[in-house]
Amino acid sequence: MTTTAPQQALVAADPERVANADRTIARMALPAEGLAVEDPSTGERIATIVDVDVDGALEAVAVADAAGRAWARTTPRQRADVLHAWYAMLIDRADELAHLIVREMGKPLAEARAEVQYAADFVRWYAEEAVRPRGDYRDAPGGGAQIVTRRSPVGLSVLITPWNFPLAMATRKIAPAIAAGNAAIVKPATLTPLTTLLAVELGRRAGIPEELVHVVTTSRSSAFSEAVLRDPRVRKVSFTGSTPVGRTLLALASEQVLRASMELGGNAPLLVFDDADLERAVEGTLAAKLRNGGQSCVGANRIYVQDGIADAFVEALAERLAGIRVGSGFGEGVQLGPLIDDRAVRSMAALTEDAVARGAELRTGGSAIAGAGHWFQPTLLDRVPSDSRIAQTEIFGPIAAVQRFSTQAEAIARANDTELGLAGYVFTESLDRALDVADRLETGIVGINQGVPSNAAAPFGGIKASGMGREGGAEGLEEYESIRYYSIARRRTR
Ligand code: NAD
Repeated sequence: MTTTAPQQALVAADPERVANADRTIARMALPAEGLAVEDPSTGERIATIVDVDVDGALEAVAVADAAGRAWARTTPRQRADVLHAWYAMLIDRADELAHLIVREMGKPLAEARAEVQYAADFVRWYAEEAVRPRGDYRDAPGGGAQIVTRRSPVGLSVLITPWNFPLAMATRKIAPAIAAGNAAIVKPATLTPLTTLLAVELGRRAGIPEELVHVVTTSRSSAFSEAVLRDPRVRKVSFTGSTPVGRTLLALASEQVLRASMELGGNAPLLVFDDADLERAVEGTLAAKLRNGGQSCVGANRIYVQDGIADAFVEALAERLAGIRVGSGFGEGVQLGPLIDDRAVRSMAALTEDAVARGAELRTGGSAIAGAGHWFQPTLLDRVPSDSRIAQTEIFGPIAAVQRFSTQAEAIARANDTELGLAGYVFTESLDRALDVADRLETGIVGINQGVPSNAAAPFGGIKASGMGREGGAEGLEEYESIRYYSIARRRTR
């Protein structure tokens, strides 16, 4: 049996990479006073940003509203050209953006580079979609009229993003919003605002009108949403974040009957069947669990493994987790960075303690790692009782929580026993089983024999309390469009 790994030494940052990030920050013309932005791997203040008050946010609404009216009259080709130029700029500055993501959010540099490409992919995708405005033509069944449908911009859009993918969550909203002809107010998480600020600045240089997209950095989230979502010039809110905040924003959105897209929390089940390819299942689980340090809405949260393969699976996963290189995202070969803050570290410790107290077996990790910054060991808990807190909440950290099952029906019932339904995963070599299980999982996304289902061309989003609306794909553009139809009277002429 694998024993708990000793306290690992953290891999140190490469100073040249840190200096690269700091040179970018120095060029960003940030204020001398305001909100502190910290590096989660050290807790040190790395930048200061403006703390916008409610009046400032409403000023941005007024300016964006006027700019949006002009932008709505541009042609799809003009909008596409600007987005193509923005894509090129993001790719050209990819290294700088990736360093900034690591500095403010902590993920390993290789993952930050992947995020930049993923984020830029949304911009390219919506540049391509912008020139395919869809509408259709129908005959009224009873005759006498023809029906023509077309799409128009939904109107001024408020885009609120989380800290875990500071670039991709921003472009996934901004690109379709402006492709469809809208202005936008973007409120990034105060923990990670720098990447969004730089990305939008690059967008301006690529041709996005200065007044069209505003980044509002504020510590007063509630006051911001209460004022802005009640402003009659606003017509849409798109939010990515936790389910409780999503509920609050939906209640606010109801006052003005705003169009709403909600990308909320997940509690992803990952099912490994006896007939799975062991290596593929372990690889896929590691990817689904450790991407972004486990701080991902589609992260594998409840890992269900069938009895026949469970011992071998747990053994292999424990070995892999115990060998993960933990340290600064700027460290050589690092696979796991810091958690975002101390609250997250305390939460990992409490979830582990609760599960072990209820009978879970700790196979590796299980502790915070001492040092400046916010660290927790890659951890594996086996035989987690289904009544433990870790089996019921979104973990958002590097703990693999394994439960065992005997039949397919039991696994599906347990997987669906949650109010959330964002992503699910199934590992099996049987095509019939894969599709049958996928059909029955109550989630918006299913990864089949793979652990990273994100793609700019796919409609990403959840069902149940994980949200409404989709981001990515053609569907992502529809979120920013209103469908209108013209009823054209017809009568026969002679
Ligand atoms: P959070 O809900 O705490 O915050 C998200 C954003 O909302 C931040 O910008 C925050 O400042 C802002 N916010 C908080 N209260 C607000 C209010 N009253 N009015 C306006 N804005 C407010 O979430 P987080 O901790 O930043 O992110 C983690 C959560 O996001 C997890 O639950 C995760 O599953 C979810 N998430 C979902 C997706 C998805 O696509 N479904 C993607 C990434 C993250």
